[in-house]
Amino acid sequence: MEKTMIAARLHALHQPMSLDRIPVPKPRPTDVLVEVRACGIVPNMANVINNWPSWFPHQPIPKFPAIFGLDPAGVVAEVGEAVINVKPGDRVYVSPLRSCGSCKACRSGHRSHCRYFTLNGYFSTSRDGQRIFDLYPYGGFSQYMTAPEYALVNLPDNLSFLQAGRFGYLGTSYGALKNANAGPGQVALIDGITGTLGVASTVLGLAMGLSRILGTGRNEELLQRVKALAPDRIEIMSLGEKSSSEWAKSLTGGEGVDFAISALGAKAPAATMVDSMKGVRRGGRVVNVGGVAEDLPIDVKWLMDEQIQLIGSNWFTAAQGQEMAEMVRTGTLDLSYLEHKIFPLERVNEAISGLTDRDGGFSNYVVVPPSVA
Ligand SMILES: [Zn+2]
Repeated sequence: MEKTMIAARLHALHQPMSLDRIPVPKPRPTDVLVEVRACGIVPNMANVINNWPSWFPHQPIPKFPAIFGLDPAGVVAEVGEAVINVKPGDRVYVSPLRSCGSCKACRSGHRSHCRYFTLNGYFSTSRDGQRIFDLYPYGGFSQYMTAPEYALVNLPDNLSFLQAGRFGYLGTSYGALKNANAGPGQVALIDGITGTLGVASTVLGLAMGLSRILGTGRNEELLQRVKALAPDRIEIMSLGEKSSSEWAKSLTGGEGVDFAISALGAKAPAATMVDSMKGVRRGGRVVNVGGVAEDLPIDVKWLMDEQIQLIGSNWFTAAQGQEMAEMVRTGTLDLSYLEHKIFPLERVNEAISGLTDRDGGFSNYVVVPPSVA
């Protein structure tokens, strides 16, 4: 008899997802089958999915009925015949980054530069992304999913599936810090420090040895919670209180920070980001992992004179995911700040409705499929 599983599927835009019983897939030779134990979500995911085709018509979502779910973690249940380094029983995070595997970028190890860049269970930046969705139609809102072995991050025993469900945001922050050349002795400015990427960047930056982190945000209570993560190494300021560049320079002897990470929301004015950019020292870097409401007016002569680099950063490599897992294993990276908000799969529509309370970047929203054991 064919083995079946429960998956939450979206049959049409603006409809709730329905729990459907469908066959458990067989992994292809270089793929694995993962039993999903947890899948991290953004709480307003339903709104994002329903509006995606009109907001970003050049970035396709999977055809219906679609199984979404971006950040899954679980246990390898089965491996394809050509899989060498993975075995059943392995605890893994499944990075949703899918790419063609054979273009110049992929062969250089830069899968996120591939023109087929697709986030499994979410959307593709490629017009041809449906081809990838056809190959990997199973997202994390399912009891099982298939995944290529290159996408797996091995999880140590002290890293829970719930924590691993946050790896997408943690990894995006880690990728940004790597692009900033973050390291010991440096001072960083993080705009939007109370949000998901902001708090993750802070915790990772501390683990990577940054001397000081200056952060701006709007919610005073959340700013205080961020400060409490490492009171001696974190300085906070409410956005709008004063110029963030002047503030950053005043705390660095007039020189400016080594790099800034911009994790602002889509409604933030461009002027907020430009102000923070001016708080970076000569030769410093500005790494953007957010988006502001309008195009940036940038003085390119200043950019040239000061030799500032402005870098767009998106996602991270599975190898970087493994580095984070290793930092957790050794105790360098402390993820105990995450407050898990757990939803069983049958409440997936509620979980992604955006109606839940948010404690900024401290809340970790996770959907948990029914156990198959
Ligand atoms: Zn490629």
